[in-house]
Amino acid sequence: VQREYQRLGREYRAFNRDLKALLELPAETADGHRVQLSANVGLLGDVRLARMQGAEGVGLYRTEVPFLSHRDFLTEEEQYDLYRRVVAEMEGRTVTVRTLDLGADKYPRYFNIPREENPYLGWRSIRISLQMPEIFKVQLRAILRASAHGPVRIMFPMISSLEEIRQVKWLLAEAREELSASGHAFDANVPVGMMVEVPAAVYLAPKLAHEVDFFSIGTNDLIQYVLAVDRNNRKVGTMYEPLHPAVLQCIAAVVAAARAAGKPVSLCGEMAGDPTHSLVLVGLGLRDLSMGSFFIPAIKRLIRAVRYEDIRSLADEALGLASVNEVKSCVFEKMRALGVIDIIEVYH
Ligand code: PEP
Ligand code: MG
Repeated sequence: VQREYQRLGREYRAFNRDLKALLELPAETADGHRVQLSANVGLLGDVRLARMQGAEGVGLYRTEVPFLSHRDFLTEEEQYDLYRRVVAEMEGRTVTVRTLDLGADKYPRYFNIPREENPYLGWRSIRISLQMPEIFKVQLRAILRASAHGPVRIMFPMISSLEEIRQVKWLLAEAREELSASGHAFDANVPVGMMVEVPAAVYLAPKLAHEVDFFSIGTNDLIQYVLAVDRNNRKVGTMYEPLHPAVLQCIAAVVAAARAAGKPVSLCGEMAGDPTHSLVLVGLGLRDLSMGSFFIPAIKRLIRAVRYEDIRSLADEALGLASVNEVKSCVFEKMRALGVIDIIEVYH
């Protein structure tokens, strides 16, 4: 057993050494299709790791993370200081700052919310922000002020209607006016985007695309809402299936809506960092994936090992299938045929 573990250790170290060599190379398929790989971060320490792993930007900054470990809501100055440091550490690479996504499984201790029967369908995320506009605007001002230090995009979670995104944009306009009045510097052209993580937003994507500058697909929540499977409940864990045909249809629909409106679309759910899923995502037309930094080098290696033409046909084929098992077989067979199955095996 010891010998086997030593062998696995050697293999894993060699695999990581190979990945290091990739650091300066672009995530580009063998036939020249460029993909952007960004990092999901929560704490300042994550940003350092993101840089080390070759992240081209921050595709998702989960701002609720610092709120969870703090004693109270962070003040505007505290938030500004934090966001500014994240922007500075990324040295000119774009940082997509998501506004507070509290509730469901993320409650700060100082935030008194009565227990809910269905917290994922309850008072969470943008719903909390919109009902606490003063706290929300403090955050919006802090993010806008950070945009004076480097490229920032602002992103709203869990949008499910046009009214919501309009309300949010209205508060953002107020925050801008307040900053101008108080003489604070900020980038007047900060792109404003929304996460597509609720089925309603998938259906409304062609309309919502005209309200925002970009979409980011949040598959962690989208999968749980489309399949009605709690993402944290182990009893139904096997039903939580990123390659479910209904999930793939949703992703394809959002990509099509964004493309039709000429708006960029990225994907920042965990599936972006899973080698069994990421090729399908690139084949579906996504050119911008954001993931835990740890996964970036392996996904880059995978993308560089294939031709876009091949993975596009893989995605086309997968979209025509009706069952999870068919999709999975199709993906595995294709990966074997493309000679990249070993990347998954070492990695898993
Ligand atoms: C998502 O839902 O896919 C997502 C990226 O956001 P979070 O995991 O923070 O809910
Ligand atoms: Mg989410």
